[in-house]
Amino acid sequence: MTDHRHSALAYIGLGSNLASPRDQLARAMASLAALPVSERVAASSLYASAPVGPQDQPDFINAVVAVRTRLSPLALLDQLQAIEQRHRRVRHRHWGPRTLDLDLLWFAGLNCRFPRLTLPHPEMIHRRFVLEPLAEIAPTLSLGGELPGCLANRLEDQPLQRLSA
Ligand code: ADP
Ligand code: MG
Repeated sequence: MTDHRHSALAYIGLGSNLASPRDQLARAMASLAALPVSERVAASSLYASAPVGPQDQPDFINAVVAVRTRLSPLALLDQLQAIEQRHRRVRHRHWGPRTLDLDLLWFAGLNCRFPRLTLPHPEMIHRRFVLEPLAEIAPTLSLGGELPGCLANRLEDQPLQRLSA
């Protein structure tokens, strides 16, 4: 059992568009469930989205996971980057295809800026593939006073499909 004293709620965005993306996400979900001093408390459905940036690459599969953790934000980022490495993520080009991308979206409502970590994730409010799965597991979360579902509704020009489980 995880000790919940001094634990923080965090939301993590997952994305993959290479090497069997559904398998990548399934493995990543399992890795997130096994994070040290943490507990995975929710996971969204899987969603399919068209790539941001270069269009000559496969569609992405996305999801969002909630964890309760006693890790610090930077220690959690270290864990996420270690999971990305285990999936042999190769950074070819910015916004290019990747086997697994794990973004720390939101951590205990913190607003902060370290060289390696900006919270909340600065792009999340512009990405329907983050906001829709987030709305599924955190419908009442306040993002600068707005709900994820309301922010997502403004982005209906971004194609997104919820996949059946
Ligand atoms: P992107 O996710 O924008 O496609 P990357 O996954 O390659 O790009 O991440 C680039 C860098 O972003 C990482 O080296 C990481 O240190 C930094 N970073 C800053 N804020 C965050 C955050 N909230 N979540 C994840 N990475 C972040
Ligand atoms: Mg990333």
